[in-house]
Amino acid sequence: MTSLTLVHLYPREMNIYGDTGNLLVLRKRLRWRGIDSTVVAVNVGDPLPTGADIVLGGGGQDAAQGEIGADFVSRRETLHAMADDGVVMLTICGTYQLLGHEFLTKDGRRIPGAGVLDVSTRGSDERLIGNNHIDTPWGTLVGFENHSGLTTLGPAVTPLGRTVARRGNNGTDLTEGAVRDNVFGTYLHGPVLAKSPAFADELLRRALLRRGHSAELEPLDDQLAHAAAAVAIGRPR
Ligand code: GLN
Repeated sequence: MTSLTLVHLYPREMNIYGDTGNLLVLRKRLRWRGIDSTVVAVNVGDPLPTGADIVLGGGGQDAAQGEIGADFVSRRETLHAMADDGVVMLTICGTYQLLGHEFLTKDGRRIPGAGVLDVSTRGSDERLIGNNHIDTPWGTLVGFENHSGLTTLGPAVTPLGRTVARRGNNGTDLTEGAVRDNVFGTYLHGPVLAKSPAFADELLRRALLRRGHSAELEPLDDQLAHAAAAVAIGRPR
């Protein structure tokens, strides 16, 4: 029987607004289809399993990003090799920023990133905050954003989706998140996958496909997830 390995990056420092829930959603959706998974937590100094199928990283405040930043960037080559090899990655907010080239904080510090995503972030005086939903090729993604870092995309990524004004990557160009290959970054917390089941299945489908399993995923009853998404969409703040 197939078993997927899910890597959880920095669960202590990078887990705000329920981002660890993404891990639970993926495991549960696998279990409901009779597929096992194991979770490897990677903290500062721990080895990063290169045989991972899915890598997850959550949000964290600027201070937490500073704490794990050097460790994260020391994994640069490994992360690039994994991304090039098609490993599925879902990174939220603080980890999304660090997967980019750099994060220039408001107080003038430069936290270098791993450069896996062609994005750069600069701290600002405004805070983009509230429920957000975006249209993507994998349906509507629903989550909660809260960040003052403003992210601009380079040519080697495409936006994950489109947002409304004053939200998303930078509040101006209507982009939200970034994608290259199987690597995804987004500002949507919540956890995003709990209210975006089609996207959760897209990540699983890609990870399984990479392991040679091309069968369609058995449909699940997602009524509750869709109801939760509808409530969040109705409450923009
Ligand atoms: N510190 C970052 C910002 O405010 C990330 C915040 C977060 O992960 N929620 O831009």
